[in-house]
Amino acid sequence: MFIRHRLHSHSLATLQVRSETVAADVNSRWNGQYSCFNLVARTPECEQTVVRVGDIAIGGDDFVVMAGPCAVESEQQVLKTAVSVAQAGARILRGGAYKPRSSPYSFQGLGVEGLKILSKAREHTGLAIITEVMSELDVDVVAEYADIMQVGTRSMENFSLLERLGTCRRPILLKRGMTATLEDLLRSAQFLAECGNPDVILCERGIRTFETATRNTFDVAAVPVLKMVSRLPVIVDPSHAAGVRVLVPILARAAVVVGADGLLVEVHPQPEKAVSDGEQSLTLEQFDAMMTDLDPYLRLRGIETLNDTQTSSFNKAFALAGGVS
Ligand code: PEP
Ligand code: MN
Repeated sequence: MFIRHRLHSHSLATLQVRSETVAADVNSRWNGQYSCFNLVARTPECEQTVVRVGDIAIGGDDFVVMAGPCAVESEQQVLKTAVSVAQAGARILRGGAYKPRSSPYSFQGLGVEGLKILSKAREHTGLAIITEVMSELDVDVVAEYADIMQVGTRSMENFSLLERLGTCRRPILLKRGMTATLEDLLRSAQFLAECGNPDVILCERGIRTFETATRNTFDVAAVPVLKMVSRLPVIVDPSHAAGVRVLVPILARAAVVVGADGLLVEVHPQPEKAVSDGEQSLTLEQFDAMMTDLDPYLRLRGIETLNDTQTSSFNKAFALAGGVS
């Protein structure tokens, strides 16, 4: 139960009735259970949240693709990737400057230097930037460079981080904890909203199960369930779900078909040399092919091709920036 910022009993009772009408449509056992998620739950009265970053709208009619390397390694690596993914139709560049690594001996990220590289890539391509923030101590510096703050799977319940992100004035991409239920995910989203930041994008990135064939298990049903019970945009990260690049475009198709609002995909110019998550990173060419491959699935939803509609804004921004030397 979300109790930190307890609602007045009067509004709680009202909301309980509202949420019963929505969450219970999906699962009758959820009667009233989502009442404490009033800031993120879908109710007949509330509108869908559309998260806006410049001219990009996430959660509206567009399908928004975020792509880039797992980790920022060098300026050349990031600029090369940024130009290529932008030409393929991505709108947002991803790249970790602060990396949550399970081993203390793995690459931990370039920190502020990495943020500056991402910022340079934004200047050159017009892409918006998403990057992870791991600690409340880094929120200010990350917010200075990032357009969207990513909360990783390991941080979904880092409540001091979430509390600090409540006032960072940047949208949040909240990844589902690898052992979190959808209710847990929505509780963390509510926490962010309650702390002042309702601009939250939910991200399904696969969960831990007994299956070992894939790195995580892509919970396909999470997407329609979250879309039904929550008002927040939902995107899918097929890279961390799959763990191997051959499956990434196939899971991406599934994400489109089940109604996701976008994708977060790892792409690297030389995946075999990547310092992290190389096995699941697409090459630049594979990413381009994936974007074209998604066309028929997007058309089923009445969405135009990613390459044509979105490359034009890239070309404009790229021309304005004078290209990359
Ligand atoms: C990432 O996006 O590179 C990452 C670390 O993701 P997750 O938090 O889902 O493991
Ligand atoms: Mn990664």
